[in-house]
Order: sequence, then C-alpha cells, then structure tokens
Amino acid sequence: MRVGNGFDVHAFGPGDAVVIGGVRIPHTHGLRAHSDGDVALHALCDALLGAAGQGDIGQLFPDSDPAWAGADSRGLLRRVVARLAEQGLAPANADLTVIAEAPRLAPHVPLMRARVAEDLGLPVERVNIKATTSEGLGFVGRREGIAALAVATVSPLPQAT
Ligand code: MG
Repeated sequence: MRVGNGFDVHAFGPGDAVVIGGVRIPHTHGLRAHSDGDVALHALCDALLGAAGQGDIGQLFPDSDPAWAGADSRGLLRRVVARLAEQGLAPANADLTVIAEAPRLAPHVPLMRARVAEDLGLPVERVNIKATTSEGLGFVGRREGIAALAVATVSPLPQAT
C-alpha cells in the first residue's frame, strides 16, 4: 500500500459556474484555469501520482500545452488512473477536502463521490469528500478562490494469471 497527498487552488474569475469533483455548480463566478479548474480532481490527481512516484499533474498535463485548454478534469483523472495501471497500480481509496466559502458544496457531495468513484474504478464507499469553509480567514475566507486537499492510497493490481 502506498499513499500520496495533493493540494490545489484556483482563483475565482468571470463565469457563472464552478466545476468541483466533476460536478458543475452554478455560482456568481467561475474559476480561472487552463482546464476546467476542478481543484478537487487536480488535488486528487496529484495524490495518486504522488502515491505512485509519478511526479505531478503539471508535468503530465502542462498548462503551456493547448491540448489541455478547457480540459474536462475527469478526463485528466482517468488518464492518471490509466498511467497508474501501466505501473501495475490501482487506486485503493481517496479522501478529499474542498475548502470554499461559496458556493455551498454539501448538497453536491453525493454526486461528486459517485463521479470520482466511477473515474477511479472504486465502490463509492472508498471515496470520501468533505466540504468545509475557512471561517472567513485567508484567501478562501475572502472569497478569492477555492482550495482542495487530497489523500489517496494505491495498491498493486491483481497479477494477471
Ligand atoms: Mg489546478
């Protein structure tokens, strides 16, 4: 069993929705990003890559590469899972914390869990997602952006017989 952690932040910018945990949530702002700005999935990608000793999301999907402009982060996550499989590894569980003052995320957590579990090839019980605020403190508290933390474990794929 190997463990990795991930962290990501995106600043609010123009827009009418944010994408968090693979779920589009209407909001007064969007998130500035080269991709869809899904901080939760970016933190998760980094946690998985960290557990596998495979670097980070910026190396895999450089924001200088137009191929990833506006990218659906669920697609990026699936690519990370495929890369792990090439190393003989598979996600075992994931625990995400999303830190935002707004929009309210809690109502969307069940769908986020279902989507992340699908992308990881795991039962939903192996994916946990928590939404919290920063109590009005710091950049998140000033509603300048959204942050996310992730921890993931990976384990060897069953040997082919
Ligand atoms: Mg990011």
